[in-house]
Amino acid sequence: MISIKNDAQLDKMRDAGKLLHEIMGKLREVIRPGETTAAIDAYAEELIHRAGAIPSFLNYRGFPASICASVDDEVVHGIPTEGQVLQEGSILSIDCGLILDGWHADSAFTVGVGVISPQNQKLIEVTEECFFAGVRAAINGGRIGDIGHAVQTLAEAYGYGVIRDLTGHGIGRSMHEDPSVPNFGEPGRGARLRPGMTLAVEPMISMGNWQVKEMDDGWTIKTVDGSPCAHYEHTIAVNEDGLPEILTLPGFIWA
Ligand code: MG
Ligand code: MG
Repeated sequence: MISIKNDAQLDKMRDAGKLLHEIMGKLREVIRPGETTAAIDAYAEELIHRAGAIPSFLNYRGFPASICASVDDEVVHGIPTEGQVLQEGSILSIDCGLILDGWHADSAFTVGVGVISPQNQKLIEVTEECFFAGVRAAINGGRIGDIGHAVQTLAEAYGYGVIRDLTGHGIGRSMHEDPSVPNFGEPGRGARLRPGMTLAVEPMISMGNWQVKEMDDGWTIKTVDGSPCAHYEHTIAVNEDGLPEILTLPGFIWA
C-alpha cells in the first residue's frame, strides 16, 4: 500500500532530508586517495548520531555499516572495510540513510577519487542527469512507469546500461515502502502518482550492460561485465502542482 504523507509528515521528512544532505556534503569532503571506506563509514555514523538521528542502514537485515561504499564495478551495497583503500582514478558511490524523529531519508552519489578518466566523469554526470529526467516525470497524475521510462531513455541514448535488478522505492516511516520505482519501463504504466507520495528515486547506470551479480559477502552487487557503475539518489515528494520537491536537496529550485 502506498502511504500519502500530510503536511506535518512532509515537514518531518524535510527535516530528515536536510540533515542527510548536510551529512552527505561532509562525507564528500573526506573522499580522497588513501582514505578507507571504513573511515568514511565511521565518520558518517558519528555525524548521524551527533545530530540525534539513527543510521538506518546499520543492522538493516544484518548490514554491518551506516553507509554503502561501492567502488568502480561495484553497483551498490558495498560493505565499507579497513582494507578498502581508495585509489586515485576510481569512482566511489556512497549511499546513506537516516531516521530522524521516526522519518527516513535516503540519498546516494558517485564521485571520482582524485583525478578520474573523462569516461568515468561522463558516467557520473549522465547518471545525475538521468535522476533529474526521472524526477521531472514524477508529477501529480503521472505514473510510476513515467519515471523509469525517462531514466532509461536518457541512459540508453548515451549507450549506457540501466541496472534492473535494483529499484527505487517509496519511503517514509520505513526505508522501503511501496511502490517500487524501477529505472526502466513503459510510460503510462504502474501506480498513479499523487501529491504527498514520497519516493527514493535512484538510477544505477553502468558503462556496459545491466546484468549484475551478488558477491560472496551476501551484499555487494557488481556488474557482470566489470563495467564501472554510478548511482545517484534523492528522496522526493510529489507535489500537487508542478515538479517534485527534492527533500534531500533542500533549497533546490527547478530551472
Ligand atoms: Mg539509498
Ligand atoms: Mg534507496
